[in-house]
Amino acid sequence: MQKWADEVGDQSYTWPQILPYYQKSTNYTPPNTQLRLANATAPCDEGAFTAGSGPLHVSYPNYANPLGTFYPAAFESVGLQALPNGVNAGKLIGYSYPTVTEDPRYETRSSSESSFLQLALATTKLTVYTRTMVEKIIFSSSGRHGKACASGVIVKAANESFTLTANKEVILSAGAVQSPQLLMVSGIGPKATLQKFNIPVVANRPGVGQNLQDNPLICMSIQKSTMFIAADIFSRTILLSLCRYTSSARRSGRAISRESDWSFDKPG
Ligand SMILES: Cc1cc2nc3c(=O)[nH]c(=O)nc-3n(C[C@H](O)[C@H](O)[C@H](O)COP(=O)(O)OP(=O)(O)OC[C@H]3O[C@@H](n4cnc5c(N)ncnc54)[C@H](O)[C@@H]3O)c2cc1C
Repeated sequence: MQKWADEVGDQSYTWPQILPYYQKSTNYTPPNTQLRLANATAPCDEGAFTAGSGPLHVSYPNYANPLGTFYPAAFESVGLQALPNGVNAGKLIGYSYPTVTEDPRYETRSSSESSFLQLALATTKLTVYTRTMVEKIIFSSSGRHGKACASGVIVKAANESFTLTANKEVILSAGAVQSPQLLMVSGIGPKATLQKFNIPVVANRPGVGQNLQDNPLICMSIQKSTMFIAADIFSRTILLSLCRYTSSARRSGRAISRESDWSFDKPG
């Protein structure tokens, strides 16, 4: 976080500044030690969360994959140490069972839709335009010192384009690829690229749309002699579809648990 803050020249991205917003968003429930395996004890994220403060449920699955109980020995053998307060307390170098966004009452996924959106729909006058694509952000010169300021968006739905005008502000959150794409078609990006496509330049920002860094994911397939864990992983797909109907799948926590039970990081 400090590196990020230093690179963008904005200290509001540092860990102590961001932490209150994470805490405000989440509703943390400690691991259920009665239901988890005795040798799969999850940490208590002391100091990381403020209980019951936000709509997004964060907890630990009741089910831990038996294979995962052997992992600590492997982590220790490469010099990693256990993170006693979990991965949410500001230190990532080490290993720990990680929290998941799960509603522990029903052991179902807690998503931005099930938490923030449903709450906003129930408590505010929010209007959601579904099946509607933003084509362009509109800028006016009403910003500070006459600078360009986002004042609305041109959207397309059912083959019709129309304009939505902002009362207050435009928040762009179209993901890692589409956010810079929308900025660029709207005139914010590297001047030479915009001019090549006859896009009027609102602001010359050479970094926009550049430097996408992919996150490599490496999976290892290991053939085993026992059927137990393999069956366990295969049955999870079926369990996921059954979990809505069977309370036993929910109680066991298997439907919410993932194949990757551990989180670890080493010094870069
Ligand atoms: C395979 C995979 C696995 C991941 N696993 C994890 C994980 O286990 N834990 C974790 O924390 N993170 C994980 N991530 C990362 C996480 O999904 C992202 O960091 C997060 O979703 C980013 O949220 P966002 O709201 O910024 O963007 P997104 O979730 O990408 O949302 C952007 C939204 O904007 C919409 N959109 C785009 N363009 C337009 C347009 N022109 N008009 C209208 N709507 C538009 C898209 O349809 C999308 O719904 C994973 C990502 C991937 C790809």
